[in-house]
Amino acid sequence: MRRSLLLTASALIVFSPLRTAAQVTGLSGWNIFIDAGHSLTANMGAHGYSEAEKNLGVALELYDLLVTTTDIDTVFLSRTQQSDDVGLSQRSDMANSAFGTGQPASWFHSLHSNASSNSTANSVLMLWGQYRDGAEKVPNGGRAMSAIMLDNLADGMRLPWTGQGSYGDCSFYGCSGDGPYLSVNRRTVMPSELSEAGFHSNSVQNQRNMGAAWKRMEAYTFYWSILAYHGIARSAVGIAIGHIRNVEGGRLLNGAVATVQGKGDTTDTYEGLFHRYTSDPDLLRNGFYFLEGLTGDSLEIIFSADNYYADTVQVIRADSFFTFVDVGLAPKEPLGTEVVARNLPPELLLHSNFPNPFNSLTHISFSLPTDGVVDLRVYDILGREVALLDRQRRQPGRYQVVWNGRTEAGRAVPSGVYFARLIMPGGSRSIKMILLK
Ligand SMILES: [Zn+2]
Repeated sequence: MRRSLLLTASALIVFSPLRTAAQVTGLSGWNIFIDAGHSLTANMGAHGYSEAEKNLGVALELYDLLVTTTDIDTVFLSRTQQSDDVGLSQRSDMANSAFGTGQPASWFHSLHSNASSNSTANSVLMLWGQYRDGAEKVPNGGRAMSAIMLDNLADGMRLPWTGQGSYGDCSFYGCSGDGPYLSVNRRTVMPSELSEAGFHSNSVQNQRNMGAAWKRMEAYTFYWSILAYHGIARSAVGIAIGHIRNVEGGRLLNGAVATVQGKGDTTDTYEGLFHRYTSDPDLLRNGFYFLEGLTGDSLEIIFSADNYYADTVQVIRADSFFTFVDVGLAPKEPLGTEVVARNLPPELLLHSNFPNPFNSLTHISFSLPTDGVVDLRVYDILGREVALLDRQRRQPGRYQVVWNGRTEAGRAVPSGVYFARLIMPGGSRSIKMILLK
């Protein structure tokens, strides 16, 4: 079986080494031209990451999936590196001649993202070739493929239905000549379609597009669509994806880690990625992780991040699509200190926690009349220690600590009655706290 990567700039043909036997068969005798739309820095996004760069990233991921897992003959790429500058008509010409092999490529898939002046808008748009009279471009196929891709892409991106669709390009834009409207649909001689996945002009989407994980997710939706179009059953999927946030306020976390079955993925960081697009270490974040190669019916995913309590989430693995697992991590808040030197409390106090009952977090405050080593722990109703909240020497004053309803290892405790107990030389105090989930 011949599988090749055809480099565009010089039309140099590179044959990739033979790989292990393909698990997915049924694409033999077929090939695809992947058009990584635009070049260089065309269509700059909200945070300086271009549509062109995102399209190339998705194209390379899709290339990788098709070549490494299927028996497809050839995957052609319009460009393979960010420095390649390939024009619009050039891409059609490459596909029509299949880089000089004498016959056109079997399929033309054009990758894009959209632009909108509405910075929060998001959608998926698929455009297939259509003539002025409304008929589908011949050779047919683009319309059917677009419908499949639309579903998979919207599901993968978890978009609401509003504002997304698969359209004939003349219906969508109007037809100037006989159609199709879009150059890539009009000029190419094989079935074709064009995807507009999300808006690079959308701040949230632009940050996601920067990350490798998001591009691989998008590539998978196209890969599964290509298999479905050919009537090839999807083999078992073992991929967990999702967002890791601060449970308070919902901010996406940089450098958070998801691990399961010995595999791990870390969300993008300023040092690892975002420094290329901003000088502000705190500006960009996508909180998106991608774990693949997972097996078994149930997944126990451990999420962690510096200065947050770890969390473990147990989910049933989705067998035919992504398993979506989002998580909010509770921050380890430092002790808030309020020392009122002129008004020292006359005695040791452990104030009622607030709120109480509580659902996820509760604030516990205490007042110290003298300095000394404080020991503040949480116990369950059977007197077993659940969490150590504070243990160090402190000056007189009032202090506050947050308990997030978890053990120190990060495990959420069940609903019930808990006690906070404060011990200091000279006395001890307890309060009753009720956790209601
Ligand atoms: Zn575009």
